[in-house]
Amino acid sequence: MHLARFPRLHFAHLSTPLEPMKNLSKALGGPNIWIKRDDCTGLAGGGNKTRKLEFLMADALQKGADTIITQGATQSNHARQTAAIAAKLEMPCHILLEDRTGMEDVEYNYNGNVLLDQLYNSPLKKYPAGTDMNAAMEELAEQLKADGKKPYIIPGGGSNEIGALGYVNAAIELLHQANTTGLKIDHVVHATGSAGTQAGLVTGFSGSNSLIPVLGIGVRAPKELQENNVFKLAERTAEYLGIPGAVKREQVVANCDYVGEGYGYPAPSTLEAIKMFAQTEGILLDPVYSGKGAAGLIDLVRKGHFNKDDNIVFIHTGGAQALFGYRSAFDLPSYN
Ligand SMILES: *Cc1c(COP(=O)(O)O)cnc(C)c1O
Repeated sequence: MHLARFPRLHFAHLSTPLEPMKNLSKALGGPNIWIKRDDCTGLAGGGNKTRKLEFLMADALQKGADTIITQGATQSNHARQTAAIAAKLEMPCHILLEDRTGMEDVEYNYNGNVLLDQLYNSPLKKYPAGTDMNAAMEELAEQLKADGKKPYIIPGGGSNEIGALGYVNAAIELLHQANTTGLKIDHVVHATGSAGTQAGLVTGFSGSNSLIPVLGIGVRAPKELQENNVFKLAERTAEYLGIPGAVKREQVVANCDYVGEGYGYPAPSTLEAIKMFAQTEGILLDPVYSGKGAAGLIDLVRKGHFNKDDNIVFIHTGGAQALFGYRSAFDLPSYN
């Protein structure tokens, strides 16, 4: 895999740190849990979308775009990171927000990522849950074209074969870190949603013949659908990279037992995981993605899913900015 063949901008703070979480590992009684700090990618507070955007925005520039369109849920971390890099590249960034939860909390609708989208001056428009967001983006693109603009559509989560290259790159980076420090990685675990992160990782690990198993913890779709979405995108990514067939269906594994009530609703296990990471390691997770990913990791450790001396790398995909939209979800005391 030779990523320099693809257009790319360099704005992410890479390599992100790979750190041991000794206190958390001890609290759980093993295995050895490491954390790959993709919450520290630098752009707009960081997160996994930044790696994807290095390839997506380069493609947009190469195609002569002058306007970006993207979509996500109200508290979309992808929207925040896209708004930030679009601002830096002096392109307006139209954000279509799908109201997936219907929550009326003012903090949820205006604080957290939404506050930041607006600081980046991105026009926001709200759509009801279940809207065909791709069709809505196409419709806006047609209007902008009629006005003489050159819009570029970035799919939700930046998850297409171009964005997934960001996580092929992350797989190569993590392998290099592990090889230079002598860390034998037994499992990689992370939260999976729009599929680009896991698709890129499995393609990168498979294409490099490292065959490190990846476990995606789902945040929305049921297991079968999530795995199929990831596999389809991994196939497209491998083809785009010139290594068609590199990923086998059985290499794509998701566990979707930690979604709780649904996308955007933190389950009790999500809140417990957020508190546990904060209180043992000082690390901030989020209520929509990384908190569910960590809840899955913690529960699987407790159930004995991993060997006691395994080395597990949890990829922290970011999202803590959404915490400020979710104060009411935590049962926090008042004080005086
Ligand atoms: C988008 C996101 C994910 C999921 O990544 P996908 O590539 O969409 O599967 C995980 N964690 C956070 C914090 C995210 O914003």
